[in-house]
Amino acid sequence: MLCGNAYIGAVAPALARRILGVGTYIIATEPLGEERARSLLPANAAVADINWILDYFRRSQDHRLLFGGRVSYSSVQPPRLAESIAKRMLRVFPALEQVKVDYAWGGYLDITMSRAPDFGRLAHNVFYLQGFSGHGVALAGLAGKLTAEAIAGTAERFDVFGRFPHRDFPGGPLFRRPSLMLAMLYYRLRDVL
Ligand SMILES: Cc1cc2nc3c(=O)[nH]c(=O)nc-3n(C[C@H](O)[C@H](O)[C@H](O)COP(=O)(O)OP(=O)(O)OC[C@H]3O[C@@H](n4cnc5c(N)ncnc54)[C@H](O)[C@@H]3O)c2cc1C
Repeated sequence: MLCGNAYIGAVAPALARRILGVGTYIIATEPLGEERARSLLPANAAVADINWILDYFRRSQDHRLLFGGRVSYSSVQPPRLAESIAKRMLRVFPALEQVKVDYAWGGYLDITMSRAPDFGRLAHNVFYLQGFSGHGVALAGLAGKLTAEAIAGTAERFDVFGRFPHRDFPGGPLFRRPSLMLAMLYYRLRDVL
């Protein structure tokens, strides 16, 4: 099973060419108390906005606000992480101006050209799962289930995913990331306009 996400690199170069690692970052506020947290998101929904480079947020069980976004296509962690995400959070929730940020962290996810997940086999008994493109929490669970089915002998559902066509990111090892950064700059501009 190969499921190294954005970190697969030299382990499987043919797979690595089809994905790009993208950083995404998140903060957790201090506990707000149940009533205040509920007033922010009464339905307790997990929200993602409709921008191309999107922000996402939800309440935590201990009544903090979790707020993520600030995707980085350059592979460099943004400076003053907590501050820069808090700024985005305050645009949506200005009432949190005085609230402390207790935690800030981030990590890499891998995207494919089409943003569709990339499952398949390199050989009969070598399975790979990658390219969840930001939707890994639900999809990775499904992928694990389908792979277990395939290993146990019923590959019908797994192999449906194997039929999705996937392309290498253009630009080769040197220009792959800069060309993605340029394309994303265009989409970021569209979000702003
Ligand atoms: C801050 C943040 C917020 C996110 N929010 C959401 C969200 O709200 N909803 C959502 O659906 N998705 C979200 N995602 C995306 C989601 O986390 C990923 O899509 C998902 O984790 C991908 O799952 P994975 O199993 O492919 O990779 P990972 O969870 O990254 O697992 C890959 C594993 O492979 C291991 N590995 C790598 N290389 C090797 C090697 N050579 N040998 C052995 N092991 C290796 C790594 O240690 C790691 O354990 C978020 C991601 C981040 C970073």
